[in-house]
Amino acid sequence: MASILIAEDEARISGFVEKGLRAAGFATRVAATGPLALELAQTDEFDLLVLDVNLPGMDGFTILEHLRGGGSRLPVIMLTARVEVQDTVAGLEGGADDYLGKPFRFDELLARIRLRMRKDDDTGALAALTHRDVTLDIRTREARVGGNRVELSAREFALAEEFIRNAGQVLSREQLLSRVWGYDFDPGSNVADVYVGYLRQKLGPGRIETVRGVGYRLT
Ligand code: CA
Repeated sequence: MASILIAEDEARISGFVEKGLRAAGFATRVAATGPLALELAQTDEFDLLVLDVNLPGMDGFTILEHLRGGGSRLPVIMLTARVEVQDTVAGLEGGADDYLGKPFRFDELLARIRLRMRKDDDTGALAALTHRDVTLDIRTREARVGGNRVELSAREFALAEEFIRNAGQVLSREQLLSRVWGYDFDPGSNVADVYVGYLRQKLGPGRIETVRGVGYRLT
């Protein structure tokens, strides 16, 4: 099982990321301070580091500098509220593999983690997801139903991906909101229901059923 180190001091965000990654089959460990993150990242225990820039004790750029300076090739995805271009460039030049601005959606982070993991072992096994006659190409973001191309928005694609990865299971509105919309969602929002409606229209009838009072399920 691939193991991911999450360096993040905000419990709300680390909890959200950890929960999602565990559900996706990864082992996780959270480091809430810079020095602890660096110490753990220097061990051989992790396959990838999700690194917040603003950490107590030592910032993410410094951690990265120490890691790369010490010869570590651990894949690093930086997370930060600083979205200015110069920070992105500094992060990438400092040896980060990828960069994600906050707030971010979980599926966005997961896609980037999977991409990094795939570069490592290059199996290509996750390139397409299929359920009955619905196929999602994860790389090109193309969706097909019965061989015909269907245009899905980014959000609809993420939702379809969530359903296919959990085919047959009931997904609650809260699960869909947190996985597809991110941690800044309003729990009372009906946006998930609205998008399930859009997705139903695009995929065709008889695929996504409503489980009254619980959520939705791909059949
Ligand atoms: Ca922080």
